[in-house]
Amino acid sequence: MNTISGIKPSEQIKERLNIVDIIREYVPSLKSTGANFKALCPFHNEKTPSFIVSPEKQIWHCFGCGKGGDIFNFVMEIEGIEFVDALRLLADKAGIKLATYDKKLDSKRNRILEVLEEAQDYFHKSLFTFKAKQALDYLLKRKISKKTIAEFKLGYAFDEWHSLESFLKGKDFSAQDIFDSGLLVKDSSGRIYDRFRKRVMFPITNVHGQVIGFGGRILETSSSDKEQAKYVNTPQTLVYDKSRTLYALDKAKQEIRKKRFIVVTEGYMDTISSHQAGIKNVIASSGTAFTLDQINLIKRYTKNLALAFDIDIAGDTATKRSIDLALSSGMNAKVVLLPKGKDPDECIRTDPKIWVKAINSKVPVMEYYFKTTLKDFDAANIEQKKRVAARLLPIISRIFDPIEKEHYLKKLSEEIQVEVSTLKEALEKYPSARTYSYPSRDRSRKRLSEEETEQNRRIKQALDLLFALCLNFPENIPFLISEIESPNMIPLSSYRNLYTLIRLFYNKKEKFDLPEFQACLSKKFPKINQKIDLLLLKTSQAKNKSEDDAKKEIQALAKRFKVFYYKKKLKELEFSLKEKEKEVSRAKKAETRQLLSEFSKISKKLDVILRE
Ligand SMILES: [Zn+2]
Repeated sequence: MNTISGIKPSEQIKERLNIVDIIREYVPSLKSTGANFKALCPFHNEKTPSFIVSPEKQIWHCFGCGKGGDIFNFVMEIEGIEFVDALRLLADKAGIKLATYDKKLDSKRNRILEVLEEAQDYFHKSLFTFKAKQALDYLLKRKISKKTIAEFKLGYAFDEWHSLESFLKGKDFSAQDIFDSGLLVKDSSGRIYDRFRKRVMFPITNVHGQVIGFGGRILETSSSDKEQAKYVNTPQTLVYDKSRTLYALDKAKQEIRKKRFIVVTEGYMDTISSHQAGIKNVIASSGTAFTLDQINLIKRYTKNLALAFDIDIAGDTATKRSIDLALSSGMNAKVVLLPKGKDPDECIRTDPKIWVKAINSKVPVMEYYFKTTLKDFDAANIEQKKRVAARLLPIISRIFDPIEKEHYLKKLSEEIQVEVSTLKEALEKYPSARTYSYPSRDRSRKRLSEEETEQNRRIKQALDLLFALCLNFPENIPFLISEIESPNMIPLSSYRNLYTLIRLFYNKKEKFDLPEFQACLSKKFPKINQKIDLLLLKTSQAKNKSEDDAKKEIQALAKRFKVFYYKKKLKELEFSLKEKEKEVSRAKKAETRQLLSEFSKISKKLDVILRE
């Protein structure tokens, strides 16, 4: 390990690591195609490869889903982690020590993670001591092998008040850091003691395998143990947030990508047994309802969800809310039907084949709802018809995909013999997927930003193409500059900066040479230079166009942005005018007149452009 002063760690890492090697660790099928490398995209389903890596520029891009960036973006995306964590992960691979980063950015976080890792080791070693014999027996009796115990780092917390606390203090951690890790409890009189006592310990890890908390199951050896809570969990800490965590996701993620679906169980033991039996695309929700954060976490890996726990469709249960949430956020939810009254762990202990068969015959959640609701249904009974409709319509209303929604409406119509149009009318009473309120703190903000992102994505694509064409066919740059009179006509700021620089460069040199332009940028504007590299890679097909086609396309795109800009201007003016109408003073009237004349001027301009 060594540090080179003066150069940013991220730059050092980029210099030392080859993006192709790193990506190949995750995408083994990456193949050379001359200058670049190609593979099936790991971020979306596809049959022909559109995922491209450029070793020369050290960047990647997928033409299918539009994702792309540098080595850090790739690791962040595929591991589902933040920049700081990607930095740490890649620094390790590059053999670079992140001295300054550790201290400043997340030293507290790191110290807590260290405390938790020590605690994990302590619990794990304790499990193999004489005092923990009953705990180990409990696991072995449940057919958990020693290999699995080691893999999941299962452990035992002694039936003592200060065992872990004194162990950690002996490791020179501060009392505050130990307390902040959530491993201790303070009672009302200020006494501090171990949170987990006489419990079989399940370490809970984040997506990249760091311990962030624990679940502890009581070891029942006497009748008084039955009065204890069966499970105790780490409370919310700086590193542990229950609503953003899914048990064993770190161990399941590769397999989830490979199999293209995830199985969610309710308990740690279900998940552990399943992994032991070789079915590894399995995680546990730890008994709580899904949150939007957890669903988004899963969505990074797959959209296909299979739930392997009891679902009570009549009740307003946590599980049902989870399913509603999954359906209305566009996930494809199925149900794994287990033999009556059995959980996955029991099935696997009886015979792993039962579990495999149940997973393979999973049914869409809607089919499951229909089946359970229509059990013993009598079409002649009007009350029953109403009951079935009342139960299924609210669920149908939340289906995200309109075609699927229509499909199930028809199905319901056939089953209960009521016209589709009547059902549609009834459906309007219920909230649809778009307006369905997520149990999330800031749902309106989230929804808005999603819509914005979709619009931004389209604008970005058009801007990418416009600039890629202009950079590849620089003879069109004078046209671009005369058409786009003001940088403000470029709707996104990063492209606006690029445009301004192209303009300055052209006006100064009176010609445009791409290599010269890039050489010029590389010192003062490395970010924009990188953007150009990415742009050229993203739109590599742009340079294969004929000069004539390129010219036509540039004209069309420039027109599009002009129209977009003027329309937006008109809207703004309209708004200002409405505001002004409320005021009556003379000065305001003059302003109003000015706004009006500007309004008509822009309207005329827009008219001309649109008639061209
Ligand atoms: Zn893709």
